[in-house]
Amino acid sequence: MQTLNPYTNKVEKTFEPATAQEIEAMLQNAASTFETWRATSFEERSALMQKAGDELAGNTEHYARIISLEMGKPLKQSKGEIQKCAKVCHYYAHHAQEFLKDELIPTGALRSFISFEPLGPVLAVMPWNFPFWQVFRFAAPALMAGNVGLLKHASNVPLCSLAIQEVFQKAGFPLGCFQSLLIDSKDVEQIIKDERVKAVTLTGSEAAGAKVASVAGQEIKKTVLELGGSDAFIVLADADVESVAQKAAQARLINSGQSCIAAKRFILEEPIAEAFLASFSQNLQKLRTGNPLEDEDIDYGPLARVDLAQELTEQVKRSVKAGAKLYLKGGQPDHDKALFHPAILTEIKPGNPAYEEEFFGPVALVFVAKDAEDAVRIANDSPFGLGGSIWTNDIQRGQELARKVEAGAVFVNAIVASDPALPFGGVKKSGYGRELSYLGIREFLNQKTIWVS
Ligand code: NDP
Repeated sequence: MQTLNPYTNKVEKTFEPATAQEIEAMLQNAASTFETWRATSFEERSALMQKAGDELAGNTEHYARIISLEMGKPLKQSKGEIQKCAKVCHYYAHHAQEFLKDELIPTGALRSFISFEPLGPVLAVMPWNFPFWQVFRFAAPALMAGNVGLLKHASNVPLCSLAIQEVFQKAGFPLGCFQSLLIDSKDVEQIIKDERVKAVTLTGSEAAGAKVASVAGQEIKKTVLELGGSDAFIVLADADVESVAQKAAQARLINSGQSCIAAKRFILEEPIAEAFLASFSQNLQKLRTGNPLEDEDIDYGPLARVDLAQELTEQVKRSVKAGAKLYLKGGQPDHDKALFHPAILTEIKPGNPAYEEEFFGPVALVFVAKDAEDAVRIANDSPFGLGGSIWTNDIQRGQELARKVEAGAVFVNAIVASDPALPFGGVKKSGYGRELSYLGIREFLNQKTIWVS
């Protein structure tokens, strides 16, 4: 396992994966800590979670640099990610007790209610794209609910993985509450099968999600899957072309294009399509790149790994071969480097790779719709259903259309983003289950009925 700076291609640090004995010790620690942790009060847990948030907020630059070093995110954006993690810690420190208080349900009983009780150690298999945020949005609610966490992070972000464990330790959590396992993905199966592990959450690709969920399914263990997306960005004919085109460029380039909720398919109502495309292209070309750790004002960095940039190049080539047009060339200037400049593909027909697949990098896929209903039809003609946005001057109509889009979240006149207070997750091949909000904290719980006569 390596820390490899994707901007310089330099290996900064090498790690030995955990041995079988170390994995066993961690599982044992998780199981025994759970027994005491579950008995702590909300006040005790809240005080620690508050401190974890303070640790992040007070040392933003330190943690942000680790993100930028390992996966190439521009430093300013890495700082934003750390601050968001602080926010989610503080959010659940304040709200967990209220979200998990007994829910009284009137029945024929003297008293009947739902008691929310933790399950035990939960394994989190996490990706490199938001290496802190993806973990904290699982860990903050899980720990506040009385569960404990085991993290198997992506192999290219080992320093992030260890730094997150350090945040919880500095805050005063017992080590067994949150442990980072530096392991290969082939070792995940045995951990899911271990009887001390009670549930699994995974954020990442469809392939990884399907594999992990099938192993967990054989063991009858609950999973939450947050997988890919190919979010639609629908622009109606009444929208303000110039300002929305600027937002579109921003929405596509979130995290240098490597976000599950980045806008990927731009669906334009015919009357504004040509003008929008020209402005969108200009806005994408204005975005600046540079060294993520040194140039504070850049908009995008390299992709997180050279192989991800090469894979994206191949997707573009296959799409063009199948009939799509490269409206903006962009792409990888050097095949052996992770940098990828923004590109636009148009004239994408069903069956084209760009119609069916997720493009996890700065390639915008543009479609022209006859009218608003046609735009929704195109948006829904996708295997994915994570997020989507609709841009219009008619807010009422925007909301009506939002209900018709098959996705876990639809934003009207705003870029799709996650918020601790709102549920986050997908439908179709984007996964199932919800993170964040009061729904997220209830995923890994025994929602127990208690009846008293
Ligand atoms: P993966 O889905 O392969 O990696 C995500 C996590 O799953 C990592 O911790 C990885 O570990 C682990 N993993 C992978 N395969 C298995 C397996 N068979 N069993 C158990 N764990 C597994 O993502 P990649 O890094 O390969 O990226 C490929 C694509 O995945 C992207 O192009 C994008 O489409 C999608 N993706 C989506 C994300 C999202 O936010 N929804 C985030 C990241 C990627 P390890 O690193 O050791 O392989």
